Amino acid sequence: MENKVSRAFYDCSPALFRNIAASGFGVAKNYRRYRGMFRVWLNFFKAAQGWTEEQLHEFQNLQLREMVRKAFQEVPYYQDRFAKLGITAADIRSVQDLAKLPLLEKSDVIEAGTDLISRAWPIRKLRWYPTSGSTGTPLQVPRPYYIEQMEWAFLHARFYPSDVINSPYSSFTGLELIPPNQSKPPFWVDNWMNRQRMYSIFHMSTRNLPYYIKSLDSRYSHLYIGYPSAMYTIAKFMQERSFYLHRPPHYILTSSEELQPHYEDALLDAFGSNIRNRYGQNEFVGSITMYDCGHLHYDMDYSILEFLPVGHEDGAILAEVVGTNMHDTAWPLIRYRTGDLVVYNPDDHCAAGYPGQVIRRIHGRTGRYFELPDGSRITNISVIAKKCTNVKLMQVVQQEIGSILVRVVRAPGYSSKDEMNIFQQFRRKIGNSTNIDLEYVTDIERTTSGKFISIINEVAK
Ligand SMILES: [Zn+2]
Repeated sequence: MENKVSRAFYDCSPALFRNIAASGFGVAKNYRRYRGMFRVWLNFFKAAQGWTEEQLHEFQNLQLREMVRKAFQEVPYYQDRFAKLGITAADIRSVQDLAKLPLLEKSDVIEAGTDLISRAWPIRKLRWYPTSGSTGTPLQVPRPYYIEQMEWAFLHARFYPSDVINSPYSSFTGLELIPPNQSKPPFWVDNWMNRQRMYSIFHMSTRNLPYYIKSLDSRYSHLYIGYPSAMYTIAKFMQERSFYLHRPPHYILTSSEELQPHYEDALLDAFGSNIRNRYGQNEFVGSITMYDCGHLHYDMDYSILEFLPVGHEDGAILAEVVGTNMHDTAWPLIRYRTGDLVVYNPDDHCAAGYPGQVIRRIHGRTGRYFELPDGSRITNISVIAKKCTNVKLMQVVQQEIGSILVRVVRAPGYSSKDEMNIFQQFRRKIGNSTNIDLEYVTDIERTTSGKFISIINEVAK
C-alpha cells in the first residue's frame, strides 16, 4: 500500500490476496519492531516500573540535561532558537527549568522540517510516518529504528497483558483496509503472522454490522485493540439486539481516542471484558497508561510531561499536556504542545503505590470543547449523551458563542419524547444561556483516519 499503483492493485484484489499482503506487512512490521534494541527497552521499562518517584525524577533530570546538550549541539532549529533567546544548555538543569523555554507548536515543527533533525543522524536512516492530522495539518514524523522498538517494548512492558503473546486478536484502527465502495463482506483482513484480524472501521453501517458480529462470534479473539468509538459502535449494535458473543474477548485495549464513560459502559455490557486505556501520540512525546490498579498514570520513564493548567473540571485541574521526549536524540521535541487535555488533582495518590501523577480523565485535542457565554468550557458531552435515550451517535458543533448545533443519529424507537429529553439533558448541564439547535443526520463523519470527534469547535479555529 505504498503508492497509488499498489493501492489500486490491492483494492481490486480478492480477499485472499489482501490477507497475503497484510501478512507480508505483518512480517515487515515484526522485523522493524521486535529486533535490535527491543529487548533492551523491554528490560528497561520493566525495571523502571519498580522505581520510586524520586528515582524517576532523578532519571528525568539526567536524561533532560543530556537531551538538551545534544539538541544545542546537533539540532539547527534549537541552536538558532535558543541563541536568539540567549539561553544556553547550562540553563536547563532540571524539569523545572523547562519553563524557561518556549513551547513548541505543531506549526513550528512543520515549518522547521529537517532543521529539527539532529545532524548526528543521517536522514536516510529515518523512516517517515504520516500522522492523522485530525485537527488540521498532517505532520510527517521521522523515526529512527530504535524509537519504534522502544515504543513497542513500552507497550509490551506496560500496556499489553502478559498473556496475550501469540494469542489471536482483533484490531479496529484507522487503516484503509477495504475499498470504500465495497458492499459485501469480508470487511476485514487477516494478518496470519500475528494471528490478527484487522477490521475496517469505515464500513460499520447498520447493513454491514451483522457481518462483523458474525465474524467476531465465529473467530475467538483473546483481545480487541483499537479506537474505542469503533468498538462502541459494535457493542451498541449488539446491545440493541440483545446479542452476546459465545466467547467474548478477555481484554479490550483502547487508544488513539478518548475513552468516553458511555463507551466504557457499553463495552462492559456487551463484552464483559477487562478494559484498559492508554494515551499516546504518533510523535511519541508522552504516555499515560492505565495500570492494574485501575488508574491512569503518567509514565515518567517514557518522557517528561508538563501539565499546564487552563481551567477546572468537577473540582479538579484541567490542564494542557506538553511533552518532551527524552529518548529520541534524532528528532528531539522539547516542550511540544500536544493539544490534548487532562483532568487531575495533585492530591490524588495511588493506593497501590505506583509513581506518576494519577490522571482522572483525558480529553482529545484542545479544539474539542465548546464554550458558554460566561467563558466556561464543556470538554465532554459523554455525561449528557449517556442520558439521552434511543440515540446512536451525537456530536456538538459550535460556530459561535451563544449557540450550539447538536447532530443526532437516531436509534430505532426514537420519538419526540427522546427529542425533548435531549434538550432537557443539555439544559441541565449547560443552563439557558446558549441556544440549542438539533439536526438529524444518518451518520456522523469521522476524520480521515477514522476518528470520531464528539465536539467540533469552529470558533476556536
Ligand atoms: Zn494507581
